[in-house]
Formats: sequence, structure tokens, C-alpha cells
Amino acid sequence: MSRRELAARVLGNSVVNRLGRVSDGGLRILAYHRILDGDPAELPFDEGVVSATTEQFYHQMRFVRENFDVVTFGGLLQCEREGKQWPNRGLIVTFDDGYRDNYANAFPVLRELKLPAVIFLATGHIGEEVLFWWDLIAFCFKETELESVLLSEISTEPVSLAGHAERKEAIQRVLAWTKKAPDEIRRAFLERLPGLLDVTLDDDIAFAMHLSWDEVRTMSKGGVEFGSHTVTHPVLSNVGADRLDLELRESKEAIDRELGKEAVAFAYPVGRGRNFTADSMKAVEKAGYRFAVSYDEGVAQPGVSDRYALPRIHVESNQSLNLFRAKLMFSRFMVGGQDERSSDR
Ligand SMILES: [Zn+2]
Repeated sequence: MSRRELAARVLGNSVVNRLGRVSDGGLRILAYHRILDGDPAELPFDEGVVSATTEQFYHQMRFVRENFDVVTFGGLLQCEREGKQWPNRGLIVTFDDGYRDNYANAFPVLRELKLPAVIFLATGHIGEEVLFWWDLIAFCFKETELESVLLSEISTEPVSLAGHAERKEAIQRVLAWTKKAPDEIRRAFLERLPGLLDVTLDDDIAFAMHLSWDEVRTMSKGGVEFGSHTVTHPVLSNVGADRLDLELRESKEAIDRELGKEAVAFAYPVGRGRNFTADSMKAVEKAGYRFAVSYDEGVAQPGVSDRYALPRIHVESNQSLNLFRAKLMFSRFMVGGQDERSSDR
């Protein structure tokens, strides 16, 4: 059996053409957060959102450029307006949250390789020095000098902070809890957390951590499309209808106003399927978005996948280039689990 026949057999209905390229008609949407160099474990903030180093990202994008048609949500919309199908080997490169390293590290690579991308902004953090809540949690637990802490919301027993492993475990427990707690309770808890752990947050703690609107505009002119990721990044299933509408509407208005271009796509915060509801999806459509992406792992199938819950393929810093390639080529068969420790933020 030739390599091509073998690949075709493994891929089932997918078609592997003579160049070995997959063309199963699926749309692959890569999900990145931060592109950061150095050891993620050394970061005083949340290491779980580091997706790749600049060098890893460069090699990933080289592979993507050679094997897929890299497009944006605006491009998909244009296809639909012209009555055409989505590209047969379509792929969208996305980043969530709006970290400044997307500009400093990812954008030069995208520009060099002439690839478009989409960045989903939590607009309340753009140009602001306010930590995202997962970074705040990680910072407090990494910085504290306490040996244990009682967090009554999370357990009746004190949480041990004796060693590195215990602190890591504590961060994961608190992250998991904050993803499920009603939004007002989460906010109140996070207000108290630095005090509970006896940690002081400097005013400039998040200096140059998030994108500025000038950087966003520069990238917008350089082929990067911007979508919304809400204003304050709440888990949508944990907020009421009024808050939901405000988060969807105000973030879109900010992007449309600052860029003079319409945000057509939305990414659900902490976007596993359980973290948004049918009502959230309806509200996203009503707010004027034309596409929405989840953080459930998979390949979107035109005409089959719900355009308001398109799955994505996660990219994690500990993935080898071979695994990255395999996930892209065989991702129809590599549906991810619901690991609480994954990078959903
Ligand atoms: Zn996010």
C-alpha cells in the first residue's frame, strides 16, 4: 500500500491529494493565547495561557502556510456574499484575550509570512493595566509567603501552599471554581484574594501586558482582523441577561469605533460548551456577530457545524511540531477531552 493509500484509509472520507494535503472541506481554527519566549514556569502569572515560543510559532505558521488556505472570518463572510463555499483547505489562526505579545512576537511572524490572523479582544483590558482574573489568581498564589490559606468558598479545610506542587494544585482548584461560580460571587472573591494571601499588587503590575488600541490599529492595517471576547471576560453561562447583552454590545462598539471596521466574529470566554448556553448563542447573533468560536476541540464542517459555536484546535506550549502537524492533518479524529487543566481561559 502506498503512503497516499494508507493516509487515505486512515483519513476515511478525507481526501489526501497528490501533495499530501488534506482537503476534507473542514475549516480548521487554531486557538492561541500568548506567544512568549522563555520557560513558562518562570512566569509570575498564568503559565497555562502560553501557547508557543516565537520560534515554535514561526515553524507552525510555515507549516500552515504550506498546507492550508489561511483566511479570516471576514473572508468567510465575503465567500458567502459571493455565493461561494468556504475554502476547501481553509484555516483561521486565532488568538484570545489580547496580550501584547501578539503584537511583539506573533505579528512580525505573520507579517513576514504574509498570513492573516484574528485576535479576539477582551476590550476592557485593551490599553489598561488590569490583570486578567486567571493571571491575578496565578500571581497571588505564586507570590504569597503563606504556608496555607482558608478559602471558605472553595473548601472547609485550609489549602496547603507548602511547596511548588501544592501551589500549582491550589491555582488549578481556584481556576476551576471561578469558571463555575456566579459572576458576582467570582468578582467579590477575586477582590478579596490578594488580601487573603497577603499579596500586594503594584499599580503597574500589568504594565505593557495587554495590547494598546494603537497596536491594535497597526495590526488591523497589517492584515489582522479583530473580533470580540467581551469587555470583562466573564463566563457567559454565569451572568444574567442584562450583563450578557452589555458585554456583547459594548465590546463590539469599542472595536467598531476604534478600528472603523466591524467586528464580525466572537469568541466565548473560557469557551467550553458548558460555559455558554443556547441563550448566549442567540444573544451573540442578536448583537450583530456573524460567527462565534468555542474552545471545544474539533474541525468545523461547513453546513454542519453551528456558525455560533465553531470548534477550534488548541495549541499548547508543550506540543512538538510533529504533534501540531498531526493535530492539523488528523484533527477530525483527535477530539480533545474536557481536561480541567487545559488552557481554556
Ligand atoms: Zn479568553
